[in-house]
Amino acid sequence: MTKHIFVTGGVVSSLGKGLNSASIGMLLESRGLKVRLQKFDPYINVDPGTMSPYEHGEVYVTDDGAETDLDLGHYERFTNTATNRYCNFTTGSIYHAVIMKERKGEYLGKTVQVIPHITSEIIECIQRLDGPDADVVISEIGGIVGDIENQPFLEAIRQFGQKFGRENVLYIHLTLIPFLSAAAEIKTKPTQHSVGMLRQAGIQPDILICRTEKHISEEVKEKLSLFCNVDKNAIIEEKDVKPYLYEIPLILVEQGLDKLIIQKLRLKTNGDSIGKWLSMLEILKNPSESTEIAIVGKYIGHQSAYESIYESLIHGGIGNNAKVVGRRVESEDIEKKGVKPCLCGAKGILVPGGFGGRGVEGKIEAIRYARENKIPFFGICLGMQCAAIEFARNVCNLKGANSTEFDINTRHPVISLLEEQRKISSKGGTMRLGAQPCILQADTKAFKAYGRQAVSERHRHRYEFNNEYKEMFLSKGMIFSGHSPNEQLVEIMELKDHPWFVCVQFHPEFKSKPTSPHPLFKEFIKASLTC
Ligand code: GLN
Repeated sequence: MTKHIFVTGGVVSSLGKGLNSASIGMLLESRGLKVRLQKFDPYINVDPGTMSPYEHGEVYVTDDGAETDLDLGHYERFTNTATNRYCNFTTGSIYHAVIMKERKGEYLGKTVQVIPHITSEIIECIQRLDGPDADVVISEIGGIVGDIENQPFLEAIRQFGQKFGRENVLYIHLTLIPFLSAAAEIKTKPTQHSVGMLRQAGIQPDILICRTEKHISEEVKEKLSLFCNVDKNAIIEEKDVKPYLYEIPLILVEQGLDKLIIQKLRLKTNGDSIGKWLSMLEILKNPSESTEIAIVGKYIGHQSAYESIYESLIHGGIGNNAKVVGRRVESEDIEKKGVKPCLCGAKGILVPGGFGGRGVEGKIEAIRYARENKIPFFGICLGMQCAAIEFARNVCNLKGANSTEFDINTRHPVISLLEEQRKISSKGGTMRLGAQPCILQADTKAFKAYGRQAVSERHRHRYEFNNEYKEMFLSKGMIFSGHSPNEQLVEIMELKDHPWFVCVQFHPEFKSKPTSPHPLFKEFIKASLTC
């Protein structure tokens, strides 16, 4: 039988429930257990796909084309488990499913209510991950205890424990232990209140993970234990780990969290190996070289709008024994201040994905600068589309070339709407999404990076390179190094006479891990170290 761990949060949000869930997953995998992870988000949007990155940060895309919360990126980076559309549900998606069932008459004349219908739907979503490929399912409940909107989720996980037996279910509560400098004291009261609220909802946490800036003394642990009704050895101190978030599993393992979980859930383990993770950390913390990469985007001000890109650059560094310093550049700053002051000294330039025209001209300027000065360049999704616009305007001399996303009447639509998108008007979940095969051309930088001909990468876009411009681009030195199997869609473009100028229509950042860096990120960082 699959066992279940529920991770809730208390006191404040942004404590790192996703990272802790991922770390627990990684530790259980290192003990030979099969793990699956999922997240429940209390907001009403059916998925985050229609939200601005300013609201929500990055939208993470799974192989099966679901647009999901960025925590799923942590799950995939820390573990070997693959995520899919059953790994992220929202209040919106749960209600949507229930309402669809009601419209079909599936409730047989009953009054449809939060309890039991919404909670039963949540329980079904949790159980979707049960099966032979899951010894343990870890479910993260978004938001914090005490929020009105996450109450149905708490009620569902309470019922789950009651239904399937407490020996099969574990509740972990992630909380904050603040330090008040004026009183020079660590304060446990917010956690006492948060656990109190959890207990009011009928859930007694088994383990507390306490985020803190200062060391938690034995005395404080005793107090927490007494008032929160949690064993003292199940109170885990988690001091801030910046800048190495991949150290979180070590903090947990040092305090025996993995053993505690195994013992409480009576799990049968097989082996104990975090060696690969430790070697990765060793390189991360003691790199022999360093490089600086400019990331030119339009949501730079948001901490996690490009989360997977930032992480993949670090992975590319690990793959080269090098530290990667990211310089985050607002593309509109390039428009205002000029390209040189913003990009001078950068050893590589990356333009990530995006939507809408704001800041596009700054990105195009950054790409021109990279092309003309032979600085390694990596264009991703919108980054590739901007590179096509730049090449059309400045190399092929096609004045006013653009994407029809930004100028519907452009004379030279080098980027235009995908054929399959022309009749679509609804916004949610309707892009070209998820894993698609891509065939690489031999003797190209892309082929050299992957070392094989057929690859699969994840997509999220509506626009695409316009094949009418292919001949002209080819004659001016652009190589089309990757295509969809029917050769209709350009997936990778690269420049012939440039040390490393590679652009991809897909999102390689969704398939990179610290222990196995994505080949394109690895080669990009390598080029930045040698150019
Ligand atoms: N806006 C572009 C498109 O829809 C690029 C999308 C992206 O970068 N993810 O095709």
